[in-house]
Amino acid sequence: MHEFTAEVEALAAEILAYSLDRLKNDPPLDGPRTAEDLFNEVGNTITAKGLGGHDALEVFTSVLAKACISTDHPRNLAFIPSAPSEYANLFDLVVGASALYGGSWQEGAGAVFAENQALRWISDLAGLPESAGGVFVQGGTIGNLSALVVARAEAKKKYPEATRWVIACSEEAHSSIVSAANVMDVDVLKVPVDINGKLSGPAVATAIDELHATTTKRVFVVVATSGTTNLGIIDELKGVGKAAHDRDVWFHVDGAYGLAALCAPSVRSKFDGIEQADSFIVDPHKWLFAPFDACALIYREPELARVVHTQHASYLDTLKDGAWSPSDYAIQLTRRTRGLPFWFSLAAHGTDAYTEAMEHTLEIARAAAELVKAHPDLELVCEPELSIVAFIRKGWSASDYQNWSDTLLADQVGFIPPSAHHGQPILRFAIVNPWTKISDIELIMSRL
Ligand SMILES: *Cc1c(COP(=O)(O)O)cnc(C)c1O
Repeated sequence: MHEFTAEVEALAAEILAYSLDRLKNDPPLDGPRTAEDLFNEVGNTITAKGLGGHDALEVFTSVLAKACISTDHPRNLAFIPSAPSEYANLFDLVVGASALYGGSWQEGAGAVFAENQALRWISDLAGLPESAGGVFVQGGTIGNLSALVVARAEAKKKYPEATRWVIACSEEAHSSIVSAANVMDVDVLKVPVDINGKLSGPAVATAIDELHATTTKRVFVVVATSGTTNLGIIDELKGVGKAAHDRDVWFHVDGAYGLAALCAPSVRSKFDGIEQADSFIVDPHKWLFAPFDACALIYREPELARVVHTQHASYLDTLKDGAWSPSDYAIQLTRRTRGLPFWFSLAAHGTDAYTEAMEHTLEIARAAAELVKAHPDLELVCEPELSIVAFIRKGWSASDYQNWSDTLLADQVGFIPPSAHHGQPILRFAIVNPWTKISDIELIMSRL
């Protein structure tokens, strides 16, 4: 019944050879081209007769793949890049070849079991109780939204008199929080940060108390960021969590980038207070060496999420057997077992290897910060708390930054797009790749 012809076998060999080559070597950075330009080169690839596997692969490898920036290049320090381990990438091939369904325990028990052990590692690092649990969702945006929906459902039960629901977070919170607020049709209360850019307990307490005293609106969640995407700043989790709980408000921690460093002893104390979280997220596709797309969403009391997120339909009711079905814990139904590449790498390498790789990226970030300080024309924006090094190039206008960045990519040296802080252009190195060496940083800095 399986039509594994000689032609398919030959294609398999080609695809495996390409994949292996991609894993073995630093990829070129590459870069975008216009749709018009690409069309002129490859034309319409969707045809009645089909291109055949070999030719379709050729179109991809020789043209389309080269019009995509390699996010795992050691000198791609843009946004938050990615650095999947070889094991994680290899296992993604297994996931792709296996047609696994990750939505329900009934269909995917073995895979879900493995994903849950990987989630358990993260949950234990955070110090949540044994009963905590969650699910791998597509990204931090869906993870945050799913958690906030549960938080609001809890608040609705307890405070039916509230006229309008409000998310409290800092001005530095990720854009996905405002996006979630728009989807949920709730308000956002932006609490001012302290001199170090951090949300603090007293600031949260004052802002909530003022709102509750003067309006019939109610804050249903406090979102702390740990750390911020632009600068890696970690809010004061202890004080903020306490301020939220003292007011009977859900405490959510958005650690899409930074909470990966829970496994790094040198910075672990910065996350003290995370153990109070009612929910939190961390993206293994950012700084835990997993391929796109995987966000670990964890709840202190997963049962609260299950009640809110379980979908009901006659064809699904056979699945309501009391078993742990990942679909029930977020906004999703069908799901790929997206946590498995992360699980495999973690299981194969062991958690010590994660600690080592994490500490290594932190060391490179610290060394990069020292190089910035020693450079006569550069100035650190702040001491890096984690692995983001942000700095100013003295005397440059916004267009100087942009031109420098464009040339850096055009020359295939690195990808460092400018960002901004307090309205001023800055550059930032987001170091999440254990293959990024200090010589890579030096090479980039030699052009500043
Ligand atoms: C990246 C990021 C997000 C969004 O995560 P996606 O996986 O891109 O959806 C949310 N919050 C923070 C702090 C982030 O760094």
